[in-house]
Amino acid sequence: MDTSRRDFNLSSLAVLGAMAAPGALAAAPTTNRRWVLASRPKGKPGLDNFKFEETALPQAGDGEVLLQTLYLSLDPYMRGRMNAGDSYAERVELGDVMVGGTVARVVESRNPTFAKGDLVTAYSGWQEYSTSNGAGLTKLDPRIKPTSYALGVLGMPGLTAYTGLLDIGQPKAGETVVLAASTGAVGSVVGQIAKLKGCRVVGIAGAAEKCRYAVEELGYDACVSHYDDDMAQQLAAQCPDGIDVYFENVGGSSWEAVMPLLNNFARVPVCGLIAHYNQTELPPGPDRMSALQGLILTKSIKMQGFIVSNHTDRIPDFVRDMSGWLAEGKVKYREHMVSGLESAPEAFLGLFRGANFGKLVVKVSS
Ligand code: NDP
Repeated sequence: MDTSRRDFNLSSLAVLGAMAAPGALAAAPTTNRRWVLASRPKGKPGLDNFKFEETALPQAGDGEVLLQTLYLSLDPYMRGRMNAGDSYAERVELGDVMVGGTVARVVESRNPTFAKGDLVTAYSGWQEYSTSNGAGLTKLDPRIKPTSYALGVLGMPGLTAYTGLLDIGQPKAGETVVLAASTGAVGSVVGQIAKLKGCRVVGIAGAAEKCRYAVEELGYDACVSHYDDDMAQQLAAQCPDGIDVYFENVGGSSWEAVMPLLNNFARVPVCGLIAHYNQTELPPGPDRMSALQGLILTKSIKMQGFIVSNHTDRIPDFVRDMSGWLAEGKVKYREHMVSGLESAPEAFLGLFRGANFGKLVVKVSS
């Protein structure tokens, strides 16, 4: 797989003056193991949409490197890549390796920019080995510890939270910020930044354990569960002054509960709609489009969708602020680490039923 084919590039992390940390090298491999897209899901994806393959080890040509995957990031956007239809990024073709961000080690280099042993971030997908001509590879900053944070709080999800909340949500001290999927890879960062900005933060999450964590560990003022039938009433009780910013990660019942509570001039960064990713058609019911437009008009609400790869100009600010907050203990981050490439499909499917508790990462090799 050519790792230069990528739609998100955190290459500006190099602004930190990345220096590679040499790692212990594994015994010379002979085969590659990988997950390819076997079929396109209709609605909810299943294990049968993926196929595990063992192939010959790819060879690094002139100007190329051979990469060994250490960590693979699993993210909700991958569901969209499994569809045939057009989206903001290229789909995965049937038989192709599933896409994904990785932390990888250079095990062979025929490219002068990279040395054997360098650690890099790549977009090399669900496989153990890949080759790259160097495009889209970024040497990992040795200060990123654990290195898997380059796929989470100091990577794509962290930047999503940072730009979506600060640039689009524009929270001000004293305002009320509500967010869904509030303990996940993106949400946990959104909520903590909103607290740093002096806001009242109310999370929405699934399991009671996640809600407890949101309040006790992440410092939210409250967190309600979308599993509860009276979630809308609980949310209203926790937002006595209404909602000024709603960071949308989910859609569905969370959005329904939030809508009536939005204040005049509320901002709604639309980051994700995970509750709808497996839908094949619009839900039944009356057309409420005019009601939504009426709400937006009469309350002067600003809703703005965004895709993180269009906001890479903010990477230097993000890296500076986030590194500082982590170092000072002002932002905490939880990873949900699963072991072995074999686990990837099952772990990925778990994203759509809340099985992950924190950023979902696969440890592919040591
Ligand atoms: P998370 O780590 O938050 O994992 C997904 C979580 O979503 C689950 O754990 C679950 O949390 C919640 N969830 C899943 N299905 C449902 C459902 N049907 N109803 C309610 N909640 C559900 O994922 P990320 O932080 O990586 O992503 C969060 C959102 O941000 C996604 O929509 C993703 O697509 C989007 N995103 C958008 C980007 C952009 O550029 N616009 C970039 C990155 C992410 P719980 O158990 O609490 O319900």
